[in-house]
Amino acid sequence: MLKNAYARMYSEISLEIQQEKGSMNKVASYLQTHLSGEVLVSEKARDFFSTDASVLSVKPSFIVYPRSTSDVRKVARFAWQLAEKGHVLPITARGSGTDQTGAAIGKGIMLVFPAHLNRILELDTQQKLVRVQPGVNFKSLQETLYTHGLFLPPYPASYQYSTIGGAIANNSAGEKSVKYGSMLEWVDKLEVVLANGEVIQTGRISRKELQKKKGLATLEGELYRAVDGVLNDNPELIDTYFDTIKVTKNSIGYQLEQVQKRDGSFDLTPLFVGSQGTLGVVTEAILKLEPYNPHNDLIVAGFDTLETMSDILDQLRDLHPSALELVDRHLIDFAKKHSDYIFSEELVPPNNTPAAILFIEFDDKVKRARSKIVKRALKLLRTVTENIDYTTDPLEQEKLWAIRHSAATVTNYDEGGKASLPIIEDGVVPPENLQQFIESIYDLFERHHLDSAVWGHAGDANLHIQPLLDLSKVPDRQKVFKLMDEYYHLVLKMGGSIAAEHNDGRLRAPYVKMQVGEEVLALFQRIKDGCDPYNVLNPGVKLGTDLKDVVGMLRHEYSLAHLAEHLPRN
Ligand SMILES: Cc1cc2nc3c(=O)[nH]c(=O)nc-3n(C[C@H](O)[C@H](O)[C@H](O)COP(=O)(O)OP(=O)(O)OC[C@H]3O[C@@H](n4cnc5c(N)ncnc54)[C@H](O)[C@@H]3O)c2cc1C
Repeated sequence: MLKNAYARMYSEISLEIQQEKGSMNKVASYLQTHLSGEVLVSEKARDFFSTDASVLSVKPSFIVYPRSTSDVRKVARFAWQLAEKGHVLPITARGSGTDQTGAAIGKGIMLVFPAHLNRILELDTQQKLVRVQPGVNFKSLQETLYTHGLFLPPYPASYQYSTIGGAIANNSAGEKSVKYGSMLEWVDKLEVVLANGEVIQTGRISRKELQKKKGLATLEGELYRAVDGVLNDNPELIDTYFDTIKVTKNSIGYQLEQVQKRDGSFDLTPLFVGSQGTLGVVTEAILKLEPYNPHNDLIVAGFDTLETMSDILDQLRDLHPSALELVDRHLIDFAKKHSDYIFSEELVPPNNTPAAILFIEFDDKVKRARSKIVKRALKLLRTVTENIDYTTDPLEQEKLWAIRHSAATVTNYDEGGKASLPIIEDGVVPPENLQQFIESIYDLFERHHLDSAVWGHAGDANLHIQPLLDLSKVPDRQKVFKLMDEYYHLVLKMGGSIAAEHNDGRLRAPYVKMQVGEEVLALFQRIKDGCDPYNVLNPGVKLGTDLKDVVGMLRHEYSLAHLAEHLPRN
């Protein structure tokens, strides 16, 4: 019956789409009739959702606040039936829209999860698993988990605003990832709505179960056949590609190498993690958790030169800190000028800002083990610097961490037309190249007469930088593309990845081929075609966007301010 209703709906609507302007509101009212969540088409709502935290803008036609998996399933089924008749109505899933790659915007239907599907469904403290809906806010989940002595380690710096669905879809990572990895390691199972509205559960299955799945006459079956085919046809290409990337984080493309284990077991979960809503829409997730130890030891050390810092970085990494973070001199000077933060004069002498400051945290559960490792770290640090602060006091630690978090002064900067733009904000190189990476960034910014400020994850050699540019000015718009081009070449020359944790999205899609090569790109395309043959799910994200498209989507202003506003309801 449902099928007939959709078929009827489709035939009337496709006619409308062809013939009439304004027919879109008919689509909205059809959707509204069949969904329990709200459908919005007001200019206000469409404007709000036309931007995310990237420099790009695309206006959706319809906003849907789904209330259930069934709502998502119906939207996908509807779009699939339209696509079968040649009318592609794209679907973009959205959490809080803090994505910096233009992947949380799109034409067509936008499914906004934090409005209703924002609950923690089940917590199993014994097995250390939590079942959640995708729109749950990362920070509120974390705070709930703390009260049970647990936590989800790869929280992004944006976790106060962002959702778990967004973190899964972006394979997010954060300050603890040097020890605990990215979301990929923490997603156990997913419920996913496929492009045709089928609902599947992912999880590791045996070789025998895989054969059964491949025999299904459904899109799920097609998906297993496509992925298995890609893996079986190209084992060397895949191995070579993933072996040659010597970085600790890489969110470009699809995580193919994680799907099949040596024992033949198979899991589609890693493919959906980091896929930015291009392969399916996540409607539920089971996540693994780690016991939370509130007692950390924190060492903060200033270095006169980048060289002295680099000399000991490898050895610090070998001590397995739970965080190994960095801010550079320019960031501190920027924060001094533009924020209220008062730096301790010992760590940051008034006229002698250190070239870099490292934040080295240890969270081993056993106090004795922690003290032992801290001793080793301090001994090592004292060989190159005397500028060291060490504390176990949570309040002192919070004050010190504020220096690292003062990066927000840069990311939130938006004055006199100039704003801090996330265009080259997520490069990563092999750890041994960190010093050269920083120096090359300084060169690049100097050549373009821009002020630089560098911060990020020293342990992973994953740096964040955002130039201050005015998108209303033509020379600055041109600079966006010059910077991207030069920077991405620079990162790849050093054996790095152009996206460590923020993903490729639309912004970096034109550069993916440069990083992975034509053959691997073709494999990514085969995966996409298997999952989404009509290219309905977030089209243009990861694949199929060229630089001309990016030029067309580039905003004329940039600000993060609206992300903190409430979701519009009319
Ligand atoms: C100031 C700032 C700091 C940041 N720091 C970090 C950081 O430290 N580490 C990091 O990794 N990232 C960081 N980010 C990037 C971003 O915040 C994270 O990737 C975050 O996890 C995205 O969550 P979100 O809810 O905002 O997702 P959105 O931006 O809404 O969406 C992100 C992607 O996920 C997809 N998606 C959302 N929900 C679903 C779903 N249910 N099913 C399928 N696909 C879905 C979207 O289509 C989109 O492709 C930062 C961003 C900003 C602005």
